Amino acid sequence: MRLAREAADTRQRLVAGGLFYVIGWLVVSAPGAVMVQHTLAWAGITMAFMVLAALRLWPAVPDEQAGAAGISRWLDRQWSVVLVTAALWGGVLSWILLDPHLAGGRSAALLCTIAFATAFAHNYALRRNRALLGVALIYLPAPLLLPRTDESLAVEVTVAAYSIYLAVVLLRSYREYQQHLDLYDALRLQRDQYERLSRIDPLTGVANRRAFGGALEHHVGEARRTGRPLAMLVLDLDHFKRVNDEHGHDAGDACLVRFADRLREMVQAPGAHLSRLGGEEFGVLLPGYAADAAAVVAEGFRASLEQRPLQLREGPLAITVSIGVAVLHPEAGEAGAELYRAADRAMYRAKAEGRNRVRVEAP
Ligand code: GH3
Ligand code: MG
Ligand code: MG
Repeated sequence: MRLAREAADTRQRLVAGGLFYVIGWLVVSAPGAVMVQHTLAWAGITMAFMVLAALRLWPAVPDEQAGAAGISRWLDRQWSVVLVTAALWGGVLSWILLDPHLAGGRSAALLCTIAFATAFAHNYALRRNRALLGVALIYLPAPLLLPRTDESLAVEVTVAAYSIYLAVVLLRSYREYQQHLDLYDALRLQRDQYERLSRIDPLTGVANRRAFGGALEHHVGEARRTGRPLAMLVLDLDHFKRVNDEHGHDAGDACLVRFADRLREMVQAPGAHLSRLGGEEFGVLLPGYAADAAAVVAEGFRASLEQRPLQLREGPLAITVSIGVAVLHPEAGEAGAELYRAADRAMYRAKAEGRNRVRVEAP
């Protein structure tokens, strides 16, 4: 999620930032007269910078379960801490510039301000308007108030010109960050697509054998945990080679597609999982089905295929299927591989006994 990425990036910037304002303030106020002449204000400001630095670290980024609204709220809160810090710094800078008794800290204050504003423009350009506001709060008192001091015109002009550089840097950083997020989104989308494609059979669109392996392990685990039965069907088209030989390979492909469509109609049971195991062989997992219930489903499908030929572009194609049924025996420590082998054995028995039939592996 784009917002989650932004929150993680914001967090990373927050962690380092706050302490610099505390240090900057101590550096600026120590050589000047602030600490001596305005001890109470000095202590208050020091405390405020420390509290704001601590507030940046807490709370942690909410996880994705908090949803976009939760993450947005977190971002708003952290941004308000950052912006209050920026405003406090701008206020402190204004004070030092306007109070002639504090002139001793002016150069250090200006240098710190330039450093903070530059760092801000580079690092906080995750949101454009908020970042512009932050840089303005930190930096603008300098060009606005310097003319009221006895600083030379050259310094005033340089400080004013630097604000343009800050705006340019900020806008460029913002664009680059958006591009970075776009790239991140595109990569994630591509990764998800590859991940999905690697689990799907491109011809029929059903899960492939790789995905089947995962589903089998999952359902075996569930069956063990819940004690519910788990049935598996292995379906193999009868004399499929003849379809290729008589109608061509393309018709063979179309036949597999139509067959998978019909099988999909059958596999409507909740949690049922259909996949193409290879060639003209398909597998169905039926969680919650005991052997007799699974055999009824298998027989229903076999009979409907026998009665209703597949509709290909070239015309109707009569074809039959042999189906092996097996159920998991978790009490015997049986794993997915054994369930698969048992269903496969039952399917071969159906072939051996004349095809176009359902055989159930003896429990
Ligand atoms: P049986 O009743 O014993 O299952 O006979 P069969 O002809 O169905 O079985 P066999 O294993 O001899 O042949 C399977 C054929 O399936 C051979 C192969 O060319 C064909 N086949 C496998 N994958 C595909 C495919 O993706 N497209 C097409 N058109 N044919 C395929
Ligand atoms: Mg076959
Ligand atoms: Mg086969």
